[in-house]
Amino acid sequence: MIKETRAFQAETKELLNLMIHSIYTHKEIFLRELISNASDAIDKLKFKSLTDTNILSADEELKIELKADKDKKTFIIKDNGIGMTFDEVSENIGTIAKSGSKAFMKNLEEAKKTGDLNIIGQFGVGFYSAFMVADKIILETKSPYSDKGVRWTSTGDGSYDIEEIVLENRGTTITLELKDTEEDLEFTEDYKIKSLVKKYSDYVKYPIYLGDERINSTKPIWKMDKNEIKEEDYQEFYKSTFHDWENPLMHFNFKVQGNLEYSALIYIPKNPPYDLYTREYKRGLQLYTKNVFIMDQCEELIPQYFNFMKGLVDTDNLSLNISREILQKTSELKTISKNLERKIISELEKLQKEDRKLYTEFWTLYGKHIKFGIQESFGMNKDKLKNLLMFKSSFADEYITLKEYIERMPEEQKEIYYAPGENIELTKSLPKVKTALDKGIEILFLTENIDEFALKTLMDYEGKQFKSVNDADLESEEQKEESKKIQEENKSLLEKMQSFLGDKIAEIKLNNGLGENSVALSSKGEVSLEMEKVLSQMPGNEGIKAEKVLEINPNHPLFKRLQSGTEEEVNTLTEILFNEGLLMEGFSIENPVEFIKKVNAFLSK
Ligand code: ADP
Ligand code: MG
Repeated sequence: MIKETRAFQAETKELLNLMIHSIYTHKEIFLRELISNASDAIDKLKFKSLTDTNILSADEELKIELKADKDKKTFIIKDNGIGMTFDEVSENIGTIAKSGSKAFMKNLEEAKKTGDLNIIGQFGVGFYSAFMVADKIILETKSPYSDKGVRWTSTGDGSYDIEEIVLENRGTTITLELKDTEEDLEFTEDYKIKSLVKKYSDYVKYPIYLGDERINSTKPIWKMDKNEIKEEDYQEFYKSTFHDWENPLMHFNFKVQGNLEYSALIYIPKNPPYDLYTREYKRGLQLYTKNVFIMDQCEELIPQYFNFMKGLVDTDNLSLNISREILQKTSELKTISKNLERKIISELEKLQKEDRKLYTEFWTLYGKHIKFGIQESFGMNKDKLKNLLMFKSSFADEYITLKEYIERMPEEQKEIYYAPGENIELTKSLPKVKTALDKGIEILFLTENIDEFALKTLMDYEGKQFKSVNDADLESEEQKEESKKIQEENKSLLEKMQSFLGDKIAEIKLNNGLGENSVALSSKGEVSLEMEKVLSQMPGNEGIKAEKVLEINPNHPLFKRLQSGTEEEVNTLTEILFNEGLLMEGFSIENPVEFIKKVNAFLSK
């Protein structure tokens, strides 16, 4: 029987040194690593047994066993997977040529540069991570392709022993002689082992036993058939995994097969995450590969506008030992995320049709995100998202979709009309909105700041453009003729008013369609009145102004006073009318105290 002592390669030494001396923040992940190796070994055995029926009897249970001994201060993990031959041990365990350790070392170089050793929790560090908790490791293994077993022993200090031994059973047993510290000895406690398995390895597809007790889930919830599982199970899983105390609003379970294979379980919280609107919030889904937990909050899996969603993706297509940097570049992840996004959108569209009540609840909570999604990146995603949109309408006291709007709009109507304004009741009373409502036109009420921006980005829906009723031309032909005529007759008055207001307005005109109102304020150009309000709140945008149009009602008694007033009276009245327009539209006026003095003087005459 061979027995040798060999020196580790320089590279391996460096890694070991690091495991033993520098990294202690993520010690516990050693268990995840060993369990995943055991699970891989069983995978390999199963795969081999497809063509080599001798190596596995039908009644043998493939499993991973954990055992801890407080007195001996040991932790043992045993699997009945493929095992290793002598050569395989010396190749796989003696070097870091293969294995996740190699990838780890590469990432370590990066980590050293940035000084961020925390990243090690994010990817596989491999077999050597066991040296974080152990003074000595004894690995015994037997391959079905060898009649001898192998023992590999090391204290992690530069060399290892490797020898042939007599072993009965196929598989691998790894004994860790734990370091004699309180922290390391905790890994002999049942509760600790159980909680780590729950945290990192609950959904490993082979049973994990601690003594006689199976401590991992029998089957991952996301891999179960819908009829196998109750709504409560989904809810419990959600609450325990994503730390919410309330049941989710809804969930989607996808199982995609074919070229691209993955399972995904997506939750929409009823309580938006408490930190959702803070800078610290990180979006992302949990990522599993082959049922092994890889990372939390993998942001590549979900677009920013779905950042409120929680959930996970499990795919067999990725290697376990994968770093964040590499993840971002893997095309599999991109493909999954694109596919998943499409699936979520189509589920939401379905819900919109089939359960409007629930969809409305969703929309009230998260509609804003979808609208931002439409507006951001120059509208890159608008076509995907536009059917999810809903707005309150003047025809119904509830949200309607754009499709519903255009389906019932009269044939002669060319545009989709909207009116911005936070408060629907107040918006309805604005002169031009009122005129449109009196004419029986359906209006979408844009009650959130983002709304108008989203519609401007969308530009049109099924060929129908969006138009603010403020800018809409709602006068009849007759009224138009009439307005034009009196406009001509009062040309010099209007010019005087315009020059008094200077660059506060872009245009002044008469409008016959204002009913009993004296004025209306509208805008022309790209920036609407509502947009001015929103944009000018943003740092650096203070100067943004809408090109305002002051529309005067020629049938109002005040107009007669304008026509017959002195220059001073005309100026005062012009200021009054302009400020009325501003106030109606929710703007503040420039100098209220001065203005009130003028109004009072005017009224006292
Ligand atoms: P990785 O799992 O990424 O390959 P590790 O450092 O975790 O890297 O493991 C190195 C190699 O050692 C594995 O690729 C495998 O060939 C071998 N190995 C480790 N644990 C076992 C085991 N329990 N059974 C069989 N082979 C194993
Ligand atoms: Mg491994």
